[in-house]
Amino acid sequence: MLVDVHTHLTHDAFSIDLDAVIKQAEAAGLRAIVVNGLEPKSNREVLALAAAHPVIKPALGIYPVEAVGHLLPADFALTVKRFDVDAELEFIAEQASLGRLAAIGECGLDGYWLGEETFAAQERVFVRCIQIAMANDLPVIIHTRKLEQRAVDILREHRVTKVDFHCFGGKTKLAQECAERDRWWFSIPANATVNEAFRKMLQNLPGDRILTETDAPYLPPRKGERNEPANVAGTIAILAQLRGWTDAEARARVWANYVALFGEKWA
Ligand SMILES: [Zn+2]
Repeated sequence: MLVDVHTHLTHDAFSIDLDAVIKQAEAAGLRAIVVNGLEPKSNREVLALAAAHPVIKPALGIYPVEAVGHLLPADFALTVKRFDVDAELEFIAEQASLGRLAAIGECGLDGYWLGEETFAAQERVFVRCIQIAMANDLPVIIHTRKLEQRAVDILREHRVTKVDFHCFGGKTKLAQECAERDRWWFSIPANATVNEAFRKMLQNLPGDRILTETDAPYLPPRKGERNEPANVAGTIAILAQLRGWTDAEARARVWANYVALFGEKWA
């Protein structure tokens, strides 16, 4: 049983052959694909996809870049030009309270694409996403780039327990500390094939805090390809090799981690 806890199947890259991609993922052994929304358009597409495919588990969120669109120059590349962030947060809260969501995400803080003038606005939306997740006992799936420590501080301040750091690019020492002390989870992308930091995390994080993801269509295991959920099988193979586990054992452990974070309802 395989799982991809962070993917973007609503992306245009899948518009032609989405059904085939989902079938391939199921054939590869995936039993759960958590599709993450980013803004109003993809959030609604995530819900529609989940309604059509039992293997797809919906997560709704507001990507930090989309969250502060009103503060960015008019030529900044955004998926949705302008939208009412508070109305979207209300929509997410409503869907969560109706029991329709497997998680809140993706959301978080970005200091790579965005400057300091946006940090306060980013944090407001991030905190609101955290509050929605906690009010509904849902995991929160975190994007953070260059602001890892700040995201950790905010999560600790709010005493959040159900946390998955997606594609964590901060110091591996900080990841280790959060996994051991805060007991948060880390989902490792399929490009662990070519990324030393992710291999380190697969090797050293507590075995019960590791999850698999793809961030598809981004972060392919081989450069130039379109990434797909089926590629989590490759991450499992690396995990098994690094830990001296069989492939079956690695699959079973990561699946158990998924169930521990997301709950039986989404298994
Ligand atoms: Zn993502």
